[in-house]
Amino acid sequence: MSHDNCLFCKIASGEIPSKKVHEDPEFVAFHDIRPAAPVHVLVIPRKHIATLSEVTPDDAPLLGRMVLLVSKLAEQLGVAYTDGDTGFRTVINTGPGGGQEVYHLHAHILAGPRPWSRMG
Ligand code: AMP
Ligand code: ZN
Repeated sequence: MSHDNCLFCKIASGEIPSKKVHEDPEFVAFHDIRPAAPVHVLVIPRKHIATLSEVTPDDAPLLGRMVLLVSKLAEQLGVAYTDGDTGFRTVINTGPGGGQEVYHLHAHILAGPRPWSRMG
């Protein structure tokens, strides 16, 4: 799918509404519309990168900041690993073989008491 007709580019720009939990010049995070777990947030770069299979070494700083943001948001959402049974799952689906539905790179943050409906 092209950049111009990309659902997550439109969410990043605000053209399509979402329940945002974070916004900065480089990234947007919002609640998944069809949550698979009690906490299910998606983190996307504003830059249109279709899949994890097409990142290049130039994307390394962006990918590093994206993972740092996942950690920070998990803390803000109250699901960071502190002790006991706490913590969260981070998923990046890639291509049809990986179950990717939206071709704009995104990390899922999933957490909460199991069982989850999917991606568990
Ligand atoms: P993936 O299978 O990794 O490509 O995941 C795409 C995710 O995007 C799914 O979990 C969908 O529920 C979610 N999704 C699709 N459309 C929207 C939307 N308009 N707002 C928020 N999440 C969405
Ligand atoms: Zn896009």
